[in-house]
Amino acid sequence: MSDLQKTALYLHIPFCIKKCAYCSFYKKIWCQDLEKNYLAALKKEAHYYHKNFPTLSISSLFLGGGTPSCLSTHGLETLFQIIYDNFKINPHIEKSIEVNPDSVTLQKLNIFKRYQINRISLGIQSLDDQTLRYLGRIHDQRTALKAIDLIQNCGFNNLNFDLIFGIPGSNIDQLKNTLTLLLKFNPSHLSTYALSIESGTKLYRQKTTPVTNQIELKEYRFLRHFLAQHDFNHYEVSAFAKKNHRCIHNLNYWRFGSYLGLGPGAHSFFNNQRYAHKSDLNDYLLNPNPKLVTPKKNHQTKKAINEFLIFNLRLLDGFAINRLNKLFNIDFLKQYASSLQKLQNLKLIKITHQKMKVTVKGLYLLNEILIELLR
Ligand code: SF4
Repeated sequence: MSDLQKTALYLHIPFCIKKCAYCSFYKKIWCQDLEKNYLAALKKEAHYYHKNFPTLSISSLFLGGGTPSCLSTHGLETLFQIIYDNFKINPHIEKSIEVNPDSVTLQKLNIFKRYQINRISLGIQSLDDQTLRYLGRIHDQRTALKAIDLIQNCGFNNLNFDLIFGIPGSNIDQLKNTLTLLLKFNPSHLSTYALSIESGTKLYRQKTTPVTNQIELKEYRFLRHFLAQHDFNHYEVSAFAKKNHRCIHNLNYWRFGSYLGLGPGAHSFFNNQRYAHKSDLNDYLLNPNPKLVTPKKNHQTKKAINEFLIFNLRLLDGFAINRLNKLFNIDFLKQYASSLQKLQNLKLIKITHQKMKVTVKGLYLLNEILIELLR
């Protein structure tokens, strides 16, 4: 058993029914033919790992997108068969799927059940109909509430809801209403993201003016306070969890664990090798197999230390400095002494017992910390 090589597994399903006005992720509008071709390519990629890494054992599974739940029922069956035919999936690991309220059906939920999905992440974003329209979401409040009911009636009780704040024209009362309605369903996890106006999106083309930093911060503070009052532990910049319900899969990314990412646009970090598929479905259909490469030492170390810091500083528990030292063979406290001193003087970070973490003040000024530390 000890020879098994543990890794997290992510599958990117690059389809959506409609493109949201703010979304810059790689996705295509779903259609049957594309689904079929995509699954054929995915099967090849999964088989590549099956053939070349027979001792792989999956420590967490995450099906994300895009919108995995927009696949047809037949497509979902095929997807799960690809996974279970090619990877060793322990029944007890965390297995998450992202779903959107408009594409949840009883039939699809039963498929998730059969393939042991035990965590559902629902893209709610808001329960205010006007805000949902502004965001270009396909669902309204009624559809979202119905979907949650259906999911819970099927016996799924480990639920994450994605929410967006800092939306122009929206306000704290609307945010509070959304949270109050959602908390009645007793979710175990909430992921909250500040709206960002990214190029290539409809909001960008419409020359949307983002809310001010002050408004964004005020809403973020409100979220933190409100969720703390309801027993949510704020454990990562965007993530809040009830006791024992932190997202194992995402923690693995943030802690710099090994992961395989299959599908267009997906990234892998495995065996100290990295690979990123192009965000291009056509390219993926032609070249589904990864070409894992070991990066050149010097170039890699700098980049990898920066990545480590970017991820680990997002965790409110921080990270063990010894781990960073061991991973990259450095003396972090010595090599970053002047920056660390400056950040400590500004009360943005705390270093105690060989652990470094951001303070609450630092949490709101994470970018400043990263600017200081990333070289
Ligand atoms: S936000 Fe989600 S549902 Fe909307 S377009 Fe992006 S990936 Fe698709």
